[in-house]
Amino acid sequence: MLEMQGLWNKVLSARDTIDRHAAALRAQGRGLDAEKAALADSTRKIMELKSGIKADELSIAEKSDRKKKLDERRKIITTEKELQALEKEIDLLSLDIDALEDKTLGMIDTLDALEKQHRLLQESVDANEQSLTSAAQKFEEEDRVHHAIFTENEEKFNSVAQTLGTPYRSRFLKIIKSRDGTAIARVEGEICGYCNFKIPSYLAIDAGKDDKVVACTNCGKFIYRD
Ligand SMILES: [Zn+2]
Repeated sequence: MLEMQGLWNKVLSARDTIDRHAAALRAQGRGLDAEKAALADSTRKIMELKSGIKADELSIAEKSDRKKKLDERRKIITTEKELQALEKEIDLLSLDIDALEDKTLGMIDTLDALEKQHRLLQESVDANEQSLTSAAQKFEEEDRVHHAIFTENEEKFNSVAQTLGTPYRSRFLKIIKSRDGTAIARVEGEICGYCNFKIPSYLAIDAGKDDKVVACTNCGKFIYRD
């Protein structure tokens, strides 16, 4: 049984390593997905900003054009009243244009900052994509080894299991294949090494005999004594 526990521990350890690799790759993949989502979001913001700037520039051009035409009308105006109205209109347009130009400049600054951020994010995505690929390759190679260890020890385990006495085999296999993978515990004095409960003295003595198969009265694990 001890030999089987040793083989089974190797099986579990190989399986854990493979599982851990898979979990690490999944976590890295999730991080990369989040970064890619942020990159897509940044692309959308940049496009929105660019079209906003373009619209404002068109509006500035259109208003400037109107202002120029109004300026030309000055020459043909005859009354003071008409001139005042015209100048008022020109002043309002100028204010409009100034405000739009300020706004556009602000947007251009924002765009510069966003594009800089975008480039950094893109570099990070590229680097992480590469690192994920190389991690996957490295794990794949390592997992091949662990898989071989897994298979080899599982086969040994199964063949040793055949030599186990029928009365105990199925119970032993059931316990060892449970979640924690431990079927056998060492007794220290009269204390079970698995659950730390005190077992009856006669069982503690039997646990030291080669011809006896003993189980802990509390946790049910098989017990032995060196
Ligand atoms: Zn116990």
